Amino acid sequence: TLTVGVLALQGAFIEHIHMLNKIPEVKEAVPVRTEEQLNSIDCLIIPGGESTAMALIAERCNMLEPLRAFVQKKPTWGTCAGMIMLAKEATGAKKGGQQLFNGLDVVVNRNQFGTQKESFQTMLHLPEILGEQPFPAVFIRAPVISQIKSDDVKIVGRLEHKHGQTEAETAVAVIQNHLFATAFHPELTSDNRLHQFFVSFALKHKN
Ligand code: GLN
Repeated sequence: TLTVGVLALQGAFIEHIHMLNKIPEVKEAVPVRTEEQLNSIDCLIIPGGESTAMALIAERCNMLEPLRAFVQKKPTWGTCAGMIMLAKEATGAKKGGQQLFNGLDVVVNRNQFGTQKESFQTMLHLPEILGEQPFPAVFIRAPVISQIKSDDVKIVGRLEHKHGQTEAETAVAVIQNHLFATAFHPELTSDNRLHQFFVSFALKHKN
């Protein structure tokens, strides 16, 4: 079994904890705000919210370096703003950029759909991780992965998205070794298959 932490500096962390509490392999789902709590968990979820706020709070709580060290070695799943935080590079940030946890070798573009639609829900195919049944994916001012910078990064979810006149495929779910990221909010549905997936993924990459 696993002790799963959910970063609770800002954003939709309670919803993740509720989802995790339904999974038998989860011994405990705990909100994480301190380095001590970070040291007591097997894996971490970074929730959606507002990545600039999350970065500022992490910095103020002296959690930036502990979180950077954590994501280097322990299974971590970033959802939406959490995906931004888990990346090494983000575009679409306010001037001066923002601090990130530097895990995934990708560039994430924030608020990708912001000027067209702030939020939408779609049935998303994630065949490598969930098989045939599509997942009800909720996108709220969501980012996308705009560049992949390492061969270790595997795209496991793509969205077909009308971008002006052209149609571009964009990556909305990736795996890199022990790291998993989704651009959408799986904790806002009643479908907990992705949480189950993350728990088995974390058990596999536990060290
Ligand atoms: N737009 C937010 C950001 O850039 C992310 C939105 C979300 O997490 N739902 O941080």
